[in-house]
Amino acid sequence: MVADAFTSKLRSLVPIQEARALVLSACNTSEPITIDVTVATGYVLAGDVSSSENVPPFANSAVDGYAVRAVDTDGAGLTQPVSLRVVGEIAAGAAGDVDLLDGTAIRIMTGAPMPPGADAVVMVEDTKFVGERHNFDGSQIVQIFKELRSGDALRGAGDDVRVGDMVFQSGTEIRPSVAGVLASINCRKPLVYPRVRVAVLSTGDELIDDGSVLAPGQIRESNRTMLMGLVAQAGAEAIDYGIIRDDENALEIVLRQAATECDAIVTSGGVSMGDYDVVKAVLSRIAEMHWMQLAIKPAKPFAFGLLQSAGDRSVPVFGLPGNPVSSLVSFELLARPALRKMAGHIEVAWDRPMIKAIADSPIKRSTDGKVHYQRVIARFDNDGRLHIDSVRSQGSHQLAATALANAIAVVPDGDGVVVGGEVLTILLVS
Ligand code: AMP
Ligand code: MG
Repeated sequence: MVADAFTSKLRSLVPIQEARALVLSACNTSEPITIDVTVATGYVLAGDVSSSENVPPFANSAVDGYAVRAVDTDGAGLTQPVSLRVVGEIAAGAAGDVDLLDGTAIRIMTGAPMPPGADAVVMVEDTKFVGERHNFDGSQIVQIFKELRSGDALRGAGDDVRVGDMVFQSGTEIRPSVAGVLASINCRKPLVYPRVRVAVLSTGDELIDDGSVLAPGQIRESNRTMLMGLVAQAGAEAIDYGIIRDDENALEIVLRQAATECDAIVTSGGVSMGDYDVVKAVLSRIAEMHWMQLAIKPAKPFAFGLLQSAGDRSVPVFGLPGNPVSSLVSFELLARPALRKMAGHIEVAWDRPMIKAIADSPIKRSTDGKVHYQRVIARFDNDGRLHIDSVRSQGSHQLAATALANAIAVVPDGDGVVVGGEVLTILLVS
């Protein structure tokens, strides 16, 4: 009897992969926009980017020194310098169209164009200038203490990017260096997916966030503050819709407003079996929802669905559980990858990095049909491996303990992990 009840309960639990597949299939990118490259960091490219320019656009010097013909330095060494006449000077930004003749050198700065005829640059540290500076009319001599080869300290045109190169593929995240490259190839207005605007709201009559003295039964709100940060960390824009009381009308108004103003909605609380679970009551009525009991711990209750809004938009709604640690875990496992997909990221960038880690202390659990997501402190040890220790309290209400964790161990159903055992671990870093 007891065994039957246990298995039927297990059967109704939804595997996390199933919930994830459902969520991801319903979350998609919006129409691309163009954005100024100076503020494009964090966006994702919505098309391949090819270059119509060479970078660098012309051959130039990699050092401050003297442009020469390499053959003119043959035999040069520390004790037997070669002497060349200095016939000119080219600074960065100058046209650099003075020809270099045999047996002469031209003073040249880093980034200045190579003069025609020169095929190498000797850095100033390997030279000695004989005579007056600022007078490069051919009457001055530079001694060169190093034999050069053709191409030394020279950066060829197109060394970095060539005309016609496909520089970045669609789906590339514009990291600061990517933005720099876009600027370098004159892609001033890249095509990107819009930043995902996410409404974040908490529900519950017990919640307070105005700093006032707690009345009996009240607690301070924490999830919304945390979720706003998690949304931002996922690369999306978090919009604060505040605390909504356990009142169906109030909640419906706010949800409908959020659906017209945002691309996704994240709620916390009110999705389980309680009598005042108004999120469940309202969303069941106004949206197309899936109410799930996930085969995971913490974060068993989870809701996902689509709320129709003006212009035939379907806005994904993530109904996260109210217990703060559960809220965090279900955001990480389900909302974060979906928001990353909506932002245009390629699949490998939907999730946090995962790595097999060594348990430095036992991870205790018993068989219950669920995957356990244990919050752990991870560090790399001298063996080059990641080692983990569970944070002291694993209760779903104990956010302070979870806040010390920098990783989450994915503990499969069973007896847990012994000291020295391996366990897949999600790193809470981008
Ligand atoms: P619920 O899912 O609404 O039944 O809430 C489950 C537990 O989480 C209750 O103890 C709530 O008081 C708590 N809780 C719900 N929302 C929040 C919140 N935004 N901040 C802190 N605790 C919350
Ligand atoms: Mg509640």
